[in-house]
Amino acid sequence: MNKLKLGWIGLGNMGNPMAKNLIKAGFEVVVFNRTKEKETEFIESGAKSADSPQHLLEICDVVFTMLSNDEAVKAVFEGESGLLAKEQPGKLIINMSTVSPDTSRYLSKISSKHQLEFLEAPVSGSVKPAQDGTLIILVGGTVESYNKAKPIFDVLGKFSHHLGAIGVGSSAKLAINYLLGLNLQGLAETVLFAEKNGVSREDMLAIVNEGACGNGITKLKSSSIINNSFPAAFALKHLVKDLRLAKEAGLDAPLINPLFDSFNHAHDMGLGNEDVMAIMKSL
Ligand code: NAP
Repeated sequence: MNKLKLGWIGLGNMGNPMAKNLIKAGFEVVVFNRTKEKETEFIESGAKSADSPQHLLEICDVVFTMLSNDEAVKAVFEGESGLLAKEQPGKLIINMSTVSPDTSRYLSKISSKHQLEFLEAPVSGSVKPAQDGTLIILVGGTVESYNKAKPIFDVLGKFSHHLGAIGVGSSAKLAINYLLGLNLQGLAETVLFAEKNGVSREDMLAIVNEGACGNGITKLKSSSIINNSFPAAFALKHLVKDLRLAKEAGLDAPLINPLFDSFNHAHDMGLGNEDVMAIMKSL
């Protein structure tokens, strides 16, 4: 399996550690990033880079995309020198970015027109699980393509779920990020309410984390709340995107609109490139 040559497009907060893990596991990985400087550390450690997505697909068997949003992924597929710019039948493309179920189905359709296999495989988990290879991978597509990709997913994540047809993996991702947003908003409101009434952030977070309301995300975000410092692990702009996609995909629950409005307001305040937990600053 390690003989498969892999291409990786998108060396951002998530793509960088994910591509590194594949290299560590012994795969030959060729990288491509729009901003070339992000390729430097890979090239310096012996990886090759491609001139364009089209070139990358030409020289690899399986190509991954880990990009900001629907527009970025479509641009990499359909742009001049994009993945579909030249007929290269038989290759497998796996999109791991979070996009709408509709975009995922569209990408699948245009890929199959070019005789390419396509899988959607968005991930749950942030930079730390990406570094540790413990992401949860939510897969939609054919079982045959999933089986081909499974050994690669086993390097990137602690488990991958094949959930059904294309679109179902993206829907699962939007659902879990809704719960993530609710957790973050709830934690921020709780800590600020307590602080206003004389309870320190340290004390309130200890109460949360020691009790039944504590969970992985409350523990993960505690130090940034205490230090009031929010360098992006999961950029706030990406959660705004995901909540918008969930609304567009039909999420019509009592809390989705206030939740979206709250994060969107934080985004409008200029907090989009900070971590999601910077919602604290806008409340
Ligand atoms: P990021 O750090 O913002 O990186 C985004 C990547 O997309 C960069 O490589 C960027 O290239 C590239 N890109 C953006 N627009 C492009 C375009 N038009 N053409 C080509 N490349 C383009 O994002 P991230 O945090 O790695 O997240 C990637 C995806 O995973 C997103 O869909 C996000 O929602 C999802 N996700 C993130 C997390 C997390 O905790 N961060 C967790 C789970 C899922 P440049 O370097 O040139 O800007």
